[in-house]
Amino acid sequence: MTTNNQPNQFKPKIRLPMKIICIGRNYVAHAKELNNEVPGEPVIFMKPDSALLRNNDPFYIPDWTQDVHHEIELIVRINRLGKNIEKKFAHRYYDEIGIGIDFTARDIQNALKDKGLPWEKSKAFDYSAVICPEFVSVSSLPDRNAINFRLDINGKTVQEGNSSLMIFPIDEIISQVSKYFTLKIGDLIYTGTPAGVGPVKIGDHLKGYLEGDKKFDFFVK
Ligand code: ZN
Repeated sequence: MTTNNQPNQFKPKIRLPMKIICIGRNYVAHAKELNNEVPGEPVIFMKPDSALLRNNDPFYIPDWTQDVHHEIELIVRINRLGKNIEKKFAHRYYDEIGIGIDFTARDIQNALKDKGLPWEKSKAFDYSAVICPEFVSVSSLPDRNAINFRLDINGKTVQEGNSSLMIFPIDEIISQVSKYFTLKIGDLIYTGTPAGVGPVKIGDHLKGYLEGDKKFDFFVK
């Protein structure tokens, strides 16, 4: 049977163009493991949409780094246009949560930090932003202020987080970020990683869990 020319198998879950805003050092234990000071306001950086790695596609380690680290993070998807959002209203600007990985070329990042240069090459490179294929509704979570997530590599848990341990909770992040950047529908916020970051190597099998449910599953190549 022939089909018409209307491919219907592609249902984009991500609205493009969009921006990806990331928060650094948002858990005390992680800031300390990298010998960073605990920040007094959120550390904010961005990735372009070309950084997205979707649909459980494999991650290929770039040839210009010897030390790519995994950082599992909760991801918030913005669902309303907003600027200068007050913290008390921030919960109105998202209703879905996902998880992903902020892959970081730690060797490059450390060299850039030493020179006081921007981090983009180490943080915003192609496919550095893993995103789970399906998000979950905030209303389905047992506690929107204490969200559990974890990363397993080759069957062993390497990072475990709970959003109640964030230095800047999600609503505070939205308020702070929206002072500087207008938030648009579809924008993503990676909310920082808990302790336990470390290198990945070829052949590693990464699985991410949100409240115990597997949300992503892919290989490093
Ligand atoms: Zn991160």
